Amino acid sequence: MDGIFAMQGEGPTAGEVYPANKILISTAPLALDTVAINMLGMEIEEVPILTAARQRKIGESKLVNISIDGDYKDIPKLANFKLPKRYKSSKKRNSKALVKIIDFFKTVPKVNRKKCRNCNVCVESCPVGAINLDTKQIDYKVCIECMCCHELCMFKAVELRKRNFLAGILADISLRKYS
Ligand code: SF4
Ligand code: SF4
Repeated sequence: MDGIFAMQGEGPTAGEVYPANKILISTAPLALDTVAINMLGMEIEEVPILTAARQRKIGESKLVNISIDGDYKDIPKLANFKLPKRYKSSKKRNSKALVKIIDFFKTVPKVNRKKCRNCNVCVESCPVGAINLDTKQIDYKVCIECMCCHELCMFKAVELRKRNFLAGILADISLRKYS
């Protein structure tokens, strides 16, 4: 895994370069990914595709069973690495109450018409046709939250907003308080 220059934040088009200066090599892909996400401060349960790989037992995903060779004895952490906004709100769903809280703060894509250049990449790439060609409004009853529109917009016009109006206000207050 080439991590000399990593991407942080809202990849693959709206992310920022993070100079991680790391190269990871392994003959065991799942073990390598397990180490990589640990470097970002994440756990395997937070990445559905890796959780599925663990459940299917197609490799090693327990850190205690993975040995680290090379320049580091322990897994190096990438300080201040910015995770995508959606991952920040997708922590383990262990209880119904927690699910409700997470859903309350859930983010959804929304086109900012002031930034939009009408290239229609989002409209054409939406797998379920949820984005109106003329208004760029998203039909949230149809949207499957794949975030392709958010990731593919070259103009950063598809923003992530809190679905719940009250949650949006609370998140803004919290951001102002801690920034
Ligand atoms: S991809 Fe971005 S710029 Fe293009 S139509 Fe969609 S929101 Fe507008
Ligand atoms: S998140 Fe996915 S499904 Fe929803 S509008 Fe964007 S591209 Fe379409």
